[in-house]
Amino acid sequence: MAKQEFQTEVSQLLQLIVHSLYSHPEIFLRELISNASDALDKLRHLTLVEDAYKTIPFDPRIDLDLDEEAQTLVIADTGIGMNEADLISHLGTIARSGTKNFLSQLSGDAKKDSNLIGQFGVGFYSAFMVADKIEVVSRKAGEEQAWRWTSDGKSGFEIEPAERMVPGTTIVLHFNEEGKQYANSWRLQEIVKKYSNHIAFPIFLTYDKSEWNAEEKKSIKTRTTEQVNAASALWRRSKSEISEDDYKELYQAITGDSTDPLFWFHTKAEGSLEYTTLFYIPAKAPLDLYQSDYRVGVKLYVKRVFIMDDAKELLPQYLRFVRGIIDSEDLPLNVSREILQQNRVLTSIRVASVKKILSELKNIATNKPEEYLQFIGEYNRPLKEGLYGDYSNREALLDLVRFKSTKAEGVTSLSEVMTRMKDGQKAIYYITGGRESLLRNSPLLEIYKKKDIEVLILDDDFDEIIFANIDKYGDIELKSVNKASTSEDLKDESEPAEEEAKAESIKPLLDKIKAALGDQIKDVRASVRLADSPSCIVSDEAEPSLQMQQILRSMGQTDIPAPKPTLEINPDHEIVKKLLAHPDGALAEDAAWLLLDQALLMEGVPLKDPASFVQRLNRVLTASI
Ligand code: ADP
Ligand code: MG
Repeated sequence: MAKQEFQTEVSQLLQLIVHSLYSHPEIFLRELISNASDALDKLRHLTLVEDAYKTIPFDPRIDLDLDEEAQTLVIADTGIGMNEADLISHLGTIARSGTKNFLSQLSGDAKKDSNLIGQFGVGFYSAFMVADKIEVVSRKAGEEQAWRWTSDGKSGFEIEPAERMVPGTTIVLHFNEEGKQYANSWRLQEIVKKYSNHIAFPIFLTYDKSEWNAEEKKSIKTRTTEQVNAASALWRRSKSEISEDDYKELYQAITGDSTDPLFWFHTKAEGSLEYTTLFYIPAKAPLDLYQSDYRVGVKLYVKRVFIMDDAKELLPQYLRFVRGIIDSEDLPLNVSREILQQNRVLTSIRVASVKKILSELKNIATNKPEEYLQFIGEYNRPLKEGLYGDYSNREALLDLVRFKSTKAEGVTSLSEVMTRMKDGQKAIYYITGGRESLLRNSPLLEIYKKKDIEVLILDDDFDEIIFANIDKYGDIELKSVNKASTSEDLKDESEPAEEEAKAESIKPLLDKIKAALGDQIKDVRASVRLADSPSCIVSDEAEPSLQMQQILRSMGQTDIPAPKPTLEINPDHEIVKKLLAHPDGALAEDAAWLLLDQALLMEGVPLKDPASFVQRLNRVLTASI
């Protein structure tokens, strides 16, 4: 018998599972039953669509067989089965990078960690919490030879040829000390009901049932087999028949998450297309949310038959945190991945589902603001991704996304910002490009503070890219305060002549500064947006801001053009007034540079030549002290 070692990650994982999750070991049964159910789903699908499998008799069931004497539990299914190569790769290695990530995410908190197990598909190994030896005898559908895989969960595993009458998988757990509590039929029934009640296939438990025998006046044990789950497609029942607990149970059964979902949306569509959708929003964002190989959360069924659970086309990518079920009456059972991509039925379901999810979220935002904030805490960022990609739902998404702002505690919505707009305010303004603290202190905000106008603080790294493409919220313009043209809005219309006179009066100084700074800048001009600061920098409409240029470079884009900033000078500032009086000489030139450098620093842009900056600063200090 050939002995094989576990992949290093598997050994590591086994160590962690066995040592960190002891307070929650009952989930082993949920994991093994869900694997059995997956295997049955896969075989059912093949028998429906592949000619070669159509002759295989399909009698889907999951059998639990408890032997209290021997302290063993058998979990058997009539599903797709595994051959030798499958056993080695599925039960000896970890393929998904998400699962490897699991290792780094373990917190040591048993409850949290047991949730992670379901999310990352390390489910099978959880059985080593309760067993010191596991045998897996499996025969793959379509093949004659069966194989036995045996392991103690420590050193590795052994594989040898075996026999099995029909295709499927039989797992024998030899309970260890920890597992003995599960060698109890009551306990097993309870766990199945708790986690696996809505598994679509019947689960039978065979055990020694004690019954009182009146004739012999004693209790007698009889070997009995009973179905222990409801085995119904819950989502096909009408809403009034489904309790809140039913919904939560189903959620846990399909996700392996033992925390209750935040919300769920159950829809039955009857009309030109017939389908049922049941979508859940998990309370915590899935840990693989920002990984490219994220696990798809929505399962596709056709007429209650499971079809696939890895189709990324079921919902747009930005809704990848949604969990649940789409069950269609109109799709063919043999629908393939290729067909899905341009299938008219699925496209309609998808479009309607997105609208449904977004409108339900809007209802929650209006009616349960507290819960909505919890949602936003987890999912604001993916919704913003939607603003970038999903043009047709942009208005709805703009209503759902939340923003930090100079006027609101916590976060605020655009509709709330609208209600706070000043008379004559021409647009909703926002600032991008850096950390929150940097943005809040930017000189670009001074005029808005002075005029008591709200500005949104967009501090997510991709905000600038996303909002550069969004001109309007309803009829109201959305404008970045980082852009040169925005200042046009702010000119004091009551005193246009005065502003112009001011700009005119410092023109000679502006020319001097421009000459001193040379090709460092595109232009210098009088600012109308500054109150306390002497200077600031702004960008042209079409150009990425300096901060954006930095982000793009840090993402490896080296060939991006480096447009020069425009320097704006505050004509009312003391320094500027003094410079106007003494516009020539070395000190004035140093001052010109310092005006530029401090504006850059305030925007979080590192100086190209810090040494010269310090020398200038020291010269000016020396002269002034
Ligand atoms: P996951 O179910 O998330 O993929 P598991 O650790 O639970 O992760 O199972 C690993 C793999 O082993 C499964 O993906 C499946 O390919 C295979 N497997 C486990 N149990 C069975 C079973 N009863 N029948 C067929 N294949 C199985
Ligand atoms: Mg599994």
